[in-house]
Amino acid sequence: DYPKYGRIDGTIVMIGFGSIAKGTWPLIERHFDYDADKFVVIEPNAANHDALRELGLRFVPEAVTAENYRDLLGGLIEPGKGFVVNLSVDTSSLDLMKFCREQGVLYIDTVVEPWAGYYFDTQDNAARTNYALRQAVRDEKAANPGGTTAVSCCGANPGMVSWFVKEALLTLARDTGKDAEAPKDRDGWARLMQGLGVKGVHIAERDTQARALPRPRGHFVNTWSVEGFIAEGFQPAELGWGTHETWFPENGHSHETGCRAGIWLERPGAITRVHTWCPTPGPQFGFLVTHNEAISISDFYTVGAPEDPEFRPTCHYAYHPCDDAVLSLHEMFGAGRQQTTHEILDVDEIVTGIDELGVLLYGHEKNAMWYGSRLSNEETKALAPYQNATGLQVTSAVLAGMVWALENPEAGIVETDEMDHARCLEVQRPYLGPVEAHYTDWTPLQDRWEHFPEDIDESDPWLFRNVLAS
Ligand code: NAD
Repeated sequence: DYPKYGRIDGTIVMIGFGSIAKGTWPLIERHFDYDADKFVVIEPNAANHDALRELGLRFVPEAVTAENYRDLLGGLIEPGKGFVVNLSVDTSSLDLMKFCREQGVLYIDTVVEPWAGYYFDTQDNAARTNYALRQAVRDEKAANPGGTTAVSCCGANPGMVSWFVKEALLTLARDTGKDAEAPKDRDGWARLMQGLGVKGVHIAERDTQARALPRPRGHFVNTWSVEGFIAEGFQPAELGWGTHETWFPENGHSHETGCRAGIWLERPGAITRVHTWCPTPGPQFGFLVTHNEAISISDFYTVGAPEDPEFRPTCHYAYHPCDDAVLSLHEMFGAGRQQTTHEILDVDEIVTGIDELGVLLYGHEKNAMWYGSRLSNEETKALAPYQNATGLQVTSAVLAGMVWALENPEAGIVETDEMDHARCLEVQRPYLGPVEAHYTDWTPLQDRWEHFPEDIDESDPWLFRNVLAS
């Protein structure tokens, strides 16, 4: 018996039917009332059409483009009702959310995606950052506040991890004998983080899912979109830049406009390593892959003026993808070209592993705390069909975001930091496996190789200078 969270009137348009969309559809079916004949998928890739036919889902076999999106979507939606669930690559989140809001149709996505070609054809690295992509959405929110709800970046990360940061702060407050009442507004949350002495946050992930077959050379193997991962891996490394940092990377750049919360490095994120920590491996390398949440979290928790804040946390992704993906990256960057065969590990071929995805809050009086989901592939099979553990952490966040949007249909453009984290986690939690807090006394200065000098600063273990691997 699954809870129904409400009725969606009008058409539900799902854009894309890749790994995330395939896993989201059964959750929509399970948790909402709607007219089944008003559910339609836009999917250009013929390889996904058999699955759509087998599931009996209506679909339009076309790509959404800058030229056709108004006509294509306009021909499917009914103004004033329904939902557009964008789970595709190569479609502009900003254009699509603007159109949906014009039409009074609810909208959700899991990433600020640009139109096809943008990631690789744009020469200016500053324009290729998530800072720039996110700022355009923030500028649209500022120019057109309120109105029909459009939820931006509501997957696992970006998405769920922003709800974890809030839950982790309340846990830390409780465990250190401080007031653990949930603040009422953004400023209250930022001051709570500041008051707890948190210097920064790693989005610390270890994916141990694996199949029996060794990765064949020339195949890029991942647990979610290969295309999406390659695109973000080739974007510049990027992070929210905290007020405790005393050094600036030689290849670093800050921004002159916008929220000022982030900086970027003149180097692809997927070959930029950082020292981080997760419960299963303990200390590990993660990749400093750029993500929207690195900027949104640093922005949300800023105290004071954006240009000269009193407090801001450092925040970045520290991602150890599944071992096959690490080897795939190694091969791709070494060869200087992308593999042409892309594989997403299927729930039924995975023989072992979990996706351990959480937030590591560091620098406070208890040193560091990891708070997150440790979902195994085996548990995932019992919870929902058509997806692995990575997928379910994303799709259940989409479900939670859709529930929140239905309950708050006139909230305007929102990021997950701006949503009711308790309500969202209430909806999502049954799908996350163990959700746990782990304290650790590890710091980036521990367990280093001592035979070679390093460019570190021992006065504060949690400086980014020490986190960045040489
Ligand atoms: P995927 O590669 O499996 O699927 C992408 C889908 O988009 C495919 O079905 C493809 O045919 C479709 N598509 C491509 N171009 C299109 C176009 N022009 N119009 C319509 N559809 C088009 O990817 P996935 O793993 O399902 O990921 C989907 C999206 O979700 C990606 O943008 C990815 O970055 C994002 N994502 C976010 C998170 C998160 O936690 N926030 C996690 C995983 C994936």
